[in-house]
Amino acid sequence: MELFELLKQGQPHRIAVTYRKQKIGEELRIWQDAKNAQLDILIGTRPAVFTPMCNLGLIIIEEEDGYGYKEEQAPYYHAREVALMRAQLGEHKVILAGRTPTLESYYAIKTKKMRYIGPEAGEDEKSEIKIVDMRQYGFSRKGARPIISPALGDRIQKALTAGKKIIIFVNRKGFAASAYCPKCGLVLTCEKCSRGLAFYSEEKKLVCNLCGLTKPLPSACPQCGARYIKHKGFGIERIKSQLHLSYPQAKICRIDKEHDTLPPDAQIILATEMIFHREQVPAADVVAAIDLDKALQIVNYRGNEKLYSLVHRLKTIVRDELLIQTAMPEHYQQKEFIHFNIQKLFDAELRERKALSLPPFAHLAAVSLRGKDLEHTKRIAFEVYEKLKDKDSKVMIFEPTEGLPAKLRGKYRFNILLKAKNPFHLSDFLRKHLAGIRHSGVISTIEIDPQ
Ligand SMILES: [Zn+2]
Ligand SMILES: [Zn+2]
Repeated sequence: MELFELLKQGQPHRIAVTYRKQKIGEELRIWQDAKNAQLDILIGTRPAVFTPMCNLGLIIIEEEDGYGYKEEQAPYYHAREVALMRAQLGEHKVILAGRTPTLESYYAIKTKKMRYIGPEAGEDEKSEIKIVDMRQYGFSRKGARPIISPALGDRIQKALTAGKKIIIFVNRKGFAASAYCPKCGLVLTCEKCSRGLAFYSEEKKLVCNLCGLTKPLPSACPQCGARYIKHKGFGIERIKSQLHLSYPQAKICRIDKEHDTLPPDAQIILATEMIFHREQVPAADVVAAIDLDKALQIVNYRGNEKLYSLVHRLKTIVRDELLIQTAMPEHYQQKEFIHFNIQKLFDAELRERKALSLPPFAHLAAVSLRGKDLEHTKRIAFEVYEKLKDKDSKVMIFEPTEGLPAKLRGKYRFNILLKAKNPFHLSDFLRKHLAGIRHSGVISTIEIDPQ
């Protein structure tokens, strides 16, 4: 909407906006206007990429690495891929914009399929990334490492004294990672996903970060009746209350899904990824990422890419110093990372993907099978695997593995991964061999190049 206002100012263009939950009549009118050359600019969310715009000259994909471009339900599509495909069919151009290119786009630039339009990214000699090795601090009696290391605490104090701003970046929600009964050891979990629930202390509620299930914190243990529920791990709320204790004079504020006001005199900003979705992304003298290790634990070939683009984003908001707290320092110690040369990091990542034939050098398809009965779903997954196996020498197929998470919204999940050089060959193969397969009680879906 802000973009709409901006483009409208003093411009004679005919502009329209489409968005989710728009009235169907209004949406239809916009489509007709677009088709009948009654519209110059259309701003829209994901499905807008299909608009039959007359004389289409340019499609701009803002924040091309955003997760929102992939439609997770039928019809499955990726808005960026649709835009690129439309460009191949028509005459128009596509601009992919963003703070960091995806590895696919980076590869397309290298192979001259796309052109890079500045700014030139180079080695950043003056601002090294500081790695704080959390292993030196050991565990407390409760078995936890400090959330804010003494080294970071010291840096925060110095920055505050010098009148500087600090951003602490966290990737967790809620007050604590999990809630449990200290008497019988029961961990409060989501019945549908079998995953620990996150505890939000401000609202006194438990939330499943997978399916969104919310319930009040029980006053007693549902298993043994003990009247005391404990929590462990940490979330953004706990860090905030700890910061208040350590720096009682500092003005501390929090930016996440639930909190988005940023007072101009804030000294310490505690933020999740939501900070990058703001109209104006605030910058700070010192930026500290305290739990990036989670990105490395992604059991997915995109782990490194996600880590690099996140750090790249953090680099854009830091003026003096970026600190990373980690219990796995060996992952960050390479020179290219410390000086943060994203080109060299991406080049190394491309070499590795090539060696392992992973995207963008090959294409993957994940056949996902979901059912309420664990054994039944597992058996079907292996049956499907047997049917697909050894059918085509150009398609590699891997044994079924448990989904991540293994259970979601009441359904157990298994995935079969397939790999091929040519994406069209892969989808033809699946169409041909999966067409006749039907199993009661098990739903199957196919995802091409899972994110
Ligand atoms: Zn109990
Ligand atoms: Zn759940």
